[in-house]
Amino acid sequence: MKLKLFNSITALLLVAILVSCNDKGESQATASGPSDTAIFPKGDLGPATNFTGKAYNFGLVPDDSIYNTLVGNVFFETSARSNWHFHPSGQILIVLDGEGYHQLEGQTRETMKKGDVIRVPANTRHWHGATETTPLTQMYILPKTENGFVTWQEPVTDEQYQSNN
Ligand code: MN
Repeated sequence: MKLKLFNSITALLLVAILVSCNDKGESQATASGPSDTAIFPKGDLGPATNFTGKAYNFGLVPDDSIYNTLVGNVFFETSARSNWHFHPSGQILIVLDGEGYHQLEGQTRETMKKGDVIRVPANTRHWHGATETTPLTQMYILPKTENGFVTWQEPVTDEQYQSNN
């Protein structure tokens, strides 16, 4: 009887491991957390004043007078996104995992996937975040920080977030 219970538990564990892996055997992010094999830790929850939903920041290169560049990684839970904002010297986004959206004001929303590199022009209102179904792991590079980092503005409405035209 005890052995039977043990076997049942083992079987359940195996199923749990298998469903958390994709067909390449890599572990995948869940809706609320990066995969076990994620390159960077999840980081610290961003303030609700700047994000809708939950986005976590992990700093990689602090700003200093040698590089004048800020580098970090953000994990967006599904449906989480930044507010509208702009960067005085632009921003480079590199998608490490998952799937997300980004949009420059006046242009259509674009989908971005693992491996995509996005160049956001200087002083251009935009937002970025995860899709409704897949979390997003996204590195950012902020150049020329002597000009500043970011100016935060109003939240992206559900209508804006969902609009793909
Ligand atoms: Mn940005």
